[in-house]
Amino acid sequence: LRNVVSRHGRYTRAYSHGAASNAFITQHTAELDGISTQAVRGPLEGRKIAVKDNICTAGYDTTCASSTLAGFRSPLDSTVVRLLREAGALIQGKTNMDEFGMGSHSINSAHGPVVNQGGDGKLYSAGGSSGGSAMAVTTDQSWAALGTDTGGSIRLPAAFTGTFGFKPSYGLISRNGVVAYANSLDTVGILANSTHKIQQTFSAISKFDHKDPTSVTPSTRKNILKVTPNLRMLGRPLRIGIPGEYNIEELDQDVRHAWVELLETLQDHNISISAVSIPSTKYALSTYYVLAPAEASSNLARYDGIRYGTRPEGSDMNAGTLFSRTRDISFGEEVKRRILLGTYTLSSEAMDNYFMQSQRVRRLVQRDFNRVFQTRNVLEEGSVGTEDGVDLLLCPTAPCSAPELAAVEAQTPVEGYTTDVFTVPASLAGLPAISIPLKQRDSKSSIGMQLIGQYGTDSLVLEASGLLE
Ligand code: GLN
Repeated sequence: LRNVVSRHGRYTRAYSHGAASNAFITQHTAELDGISTQAVRGPLEGRKIAVKDNICTAGYDTTCASSTLAGFRSPLDSTVVRLLREAGALIQGKTNMDEFGMGSHSINSAHGPVVNQGGDGKLYSAGGSSGGSAMAVTTDQSWAALGTDTGGSIRLPAAFTGTFGFKPSYGLISRNGVVAYANSLDTVGILANSTHKIQQTFSAISKFDHKDPTSVTPSTRKNILKVTPNLRMLGRPLRIGIPGEYNIEELDQDVRHAWVELLETLQDHNISISAVSIPSTKYALSTYYVLAPAEASSNLARYDGIRYGTRPEGSDMNAGTLFSRTRDISFGEEVKRRILLGTYTLSSEAMDNYFMQSQRVRRLVQRDFNRVFQTRNVLEEGSVGTEDGVDLLLCPTAPCSAPELAAVEAQTPVEGYTTDVFTVPASLAGLPAISIPLKQRDSKSSIGMQLIGQYGTDSLVLEASGLLE
């Protein structure tokens, strides 16, 4: 474990895991009374909700688990935190994560890794990057937790810790006050140990916000209500599609088994199951790993020691030296790698081959999804939906169950990226998706299965998740 810690380089505080999962970076203290424990009447009254450390929360530091933001405190709440407080929730603390959301195991943190101790005493990955939020929920410290999901960061931790993790349709929850990783992909979502809690939280925070230019407008929200069905309105058995492209060779036997077993159970319950094809799936992962770092490299330019970021000692520096020293001392390895990758794919000699090409593939992924769903895509003019299309897709959240921390630490970066192979397609298309935990017989571990819906069918996704629970 010490190796895991030292790989990141610089830590702002000594890390000791003890009994703890290292889920929180900051926890509520008496000093914060008044800010976060005022009793407000509302649907979430008295509910303890943990907030990922990349979501601005007045009274708390917001560090994105990066040394560069050590001690940074936003004077304002993000819109989503304000809505939680207005609904009566108690903000319980800020959760540990991969630095700026970059990672799949919550080990790239300036505060040391999140630890997911199994029933067998071994240390497993909590998934990432919202691993702290997932552990806060699975250890019952929190009633629910906010996470962010750019390419799987809510769903993967949910799958690895046996919790429910919901990524809504892009734009439904405001990103105002949420530190940007890759704007066109970033979503805020919810982790909890039941679908019902997610539904309650979601209805409190899924609101139009004029402070977020990508927030779904009231008129589109109305349209969504008109166009998207709920289970009762369907008036026929739910249709679930199984995308053949997700049945990859690298899929763990246990995961494949759990998938097949679940499908058999669903068939017994009058749910119609059919095979569908999303041919572009195989390009989704590489597309994501071009687009996300490209957007990140641009977003992270603000951590230059002047606008934001920990400034190095000494005053005898020109601007160039100041920028590079700031970044050198306060970004972790993975963040530096992403900046280099993004800067390269946006450079004039590589732009056409990488960035532009990836934007095209992203459109293909979106088109493939539109072709399999019965419901039309409300964001696309002229989209009509596919008459005999499915309502939802069902596939594993990850190709494996939670790996041991030591194994993850030994992975190359690219091996790490492959964990996201099943979560990035829904992110590229902006679709709602939930990871549902399936308890494994004869074992304490669980495997995550993912339900994906057409854009805007968030309620249906949640309703169906409740059925599977
Ligand atoms: N693992 C992916 C990445 O590192 C997804 C992270 C996320 O969703 N924030 O980019």
